[in-house]
Formats: sequence, C-alpha cells, structure tokens
Amino acid sequence: MEKESSVLLLFTGGTISMSEDPTTGALRPIDFNRLKEYMPELKQTGVHIKSIPFLPLIDSSDVQPDTWKKLALTIQDNYDEYDGFVVLHGTDTMAHSASALSFMLENLSKPIIFTGSQLPIGMMRSDAKENLLTSIEIATAKENGLAVVPEVCIFFEDTLFRGNRTTKKNAEHFNAFNSYNYPPLAKAGVHIKYYRSYIRYPEPGTGLRLKTEVNPNVAVLKLFPGITQNTVHSILNIPELKAVVLETFGTGNAPRHEWFYEELKTATEKGILIVNKSQCSTGTVEMGRYETSLNLVNAGVISGYDCTTEALIVKLMCVLGESQNIEEVKHKLSISISGEMTVM
Ligand code: ASP
Repeated sequence: MEKESSVLLLFTGGTISMSEDPTTGALRPIDFNRLKEYMPELKQTGVHIKSIPFLPLIDSSDVQPDTWKKLALTIQDNYDEYDGFVVLHGTDTMAHSASALSFMLENLSKPIIFTGSQLPIGMMRSDAKENLLTSIEIATAKENGLAVVPEVCIFFEDTLFRGNRTTKKNAEHFNAFNSYNYPPLAKAGVHIKYYRSYIRYPEPGTGLRLKTEVNPNVAVLKLFPGITQNTVHSILNIPELKAVVLETFGTGNAPRHEWFYEELKTATEKGILIVNKSQCSTGTVEMGRYETSLNLVNAGVISGYDCTTEALIVKLMCVLGESQNIEEVKHKLSISISGEMTVM
C-alpha cells in the first residue's frame, strides 16, 4: 500500500485567519481553534496534515526576522517527517518571508508553499480555501518518489511562483502577486500544470543547509528627481549601516551631480555595500549602458540585476548575517543563491 502523503501546515496569521472586530470594524487575527472550524475540507484531502500555529497569529506587517528564523528552524526540525510544508501568512510581507526562507534553507528537496487570502476564511466569497487546498496538493506532488517543486514558492489564485521572485501587486483582486522577471512554476486549472524547465532542483548528494543568522542593518534609498544631498547623506550615514538597496531609474540610472557621486563613493569606501535595483518592475540593471550609470560603477555600486527589492533586502540581511568578510559578501551578491536573479 502506498504511504499517505503528509504536510506540515505552519500558521503565522494574515487575512486568512482574521475576522472583523465588532467595535472598531478593523480586521484582526482570531483564535486558532476557531480557525480550524472553518476548514472541515482539510479532513477530506486524503493527506495527513499536522498544523502548528505560531501564536499569537499576526498581521504580516508585524513579521520580523525572528519569524523567518522560527519558520526555518521548525521546518528543519520536521524536515524528514513530511513530504512538504505549507505556510499560511499575510500577503503584505509574504514576498519577504518567502525570500528569507529561500536563503535560510538552501538546497531544498521538499516544497515550502506560502499562501494566504485576500478575504478572511469565514467569509462567503473568500479565496482562502482554494488557495490552501491547492497549496497542499502542490506541497505533496511527487514524481518517481521526488518532489515536483522542491522550492520555496508562493501560490495565489491560480499561479505558483518562485517565492524570491515575487512582489505583492494587488491589494484588491485575488491575484495578489506577480513575478515580473521569472515565469510561473505552475498554473492551476482543471489540472495543475507544472513548468518543469523553470523549476530548480537540489544538488544531488548534498543535504539541506540551514543559515538563520541575519543582520538587519540595511536600508532602501529610492531616487526621485530633486532628491537632496541631505536626504542621501542622512541615509548613507545611518549608524551601523551595512548595506543599501539603491532604487534607480530605468536600467539602473541616477543623477550625475558631483555631490551624489561623492556621497556614494565615501560610503562604499567605508565598506557600505550599495546595490543597484531598478524602480521598474520588469527588466534588469545594466550599469554602463547609459552615461547616467557610469558614475555608479566608478563609485563602487554593485548590480542587483533583475532581483526584486524584497529579495535584495532579505538577501543582504542573510549574507551579512552569515559573513563579515566584505569580499565574501560581495561574491554572494554577484551570484544567484536560490534562483533570485538572472546574472548577465
Ligand atoms: N494585512 C494582511 C497581512 O499581510 C493582509 C493579508 O493577509 O492579505 O497580514
């Protein structure tokens, strides 16, 4: 007889687990035991499901690096016992958390599927059940005894994305996420169709690598026409700052003011890493293509290629947590660790 498939369900919170506060009308997490009452279908899946709530359930705006660490450690502790893992999480910072787990749990051979919903599970038109049931199916999908999608993913509405390629794009409709620079890994219709050539598989012969140290001393500096030296100077001189995601124009361009170049150069010479990320959702940074990005190369700015801001912030936190050797960190930034970017 075939062994029953098994999934570990990790509840962190999010809209999926919320209801309206009768006094304020605001959505807030409900009691975990009440949540299970809304999901009698879980018993009918034919999959052995164990759930672990991370109490108190939280809105994902309250997620911190400690939440990522706890998720990674819980998955590692239960790694051998389950076919896959489903993480129920709010959509607001789901892209960050999925990115974090893709860096904390390297060389995965089992699926970790993040999902949630735009409407609470108790509401008539909620997208929660469909998202959750399909995520469970994907988390247990196997071929020749091996997981079909051994990656950290986000499943939402009808699409499975590589988690560290996603951005929350919609606060209104059920298709909350997109992956602008990487194709979907699967589409769920009558059947679930997997796009195998886009899926990453683990290096054979080596196991899971857990890395949970994080250095949160990173910042984002978003450029706009008219940005002042005061603003740039203040951000680049934040005490303890280790790295900055510089959100630039187009293919990675920036103003050519002398003061701007000097501020960046002084920062990189102090050992602060500055990574160039385009403000465009689609496309890649190509420093040197326009004159307006040559200064950035000369100031020691590093390309973030086609990585999302979410994945870059978390990657910086993780690689800085892992090593204090700047050359080693720079090397990690120049390569794709978990499929988060396409290096040109
Ligand atoms: N504010 C909620 C959260 O991220 C939104 C959601 O779950 O969709 O937790």
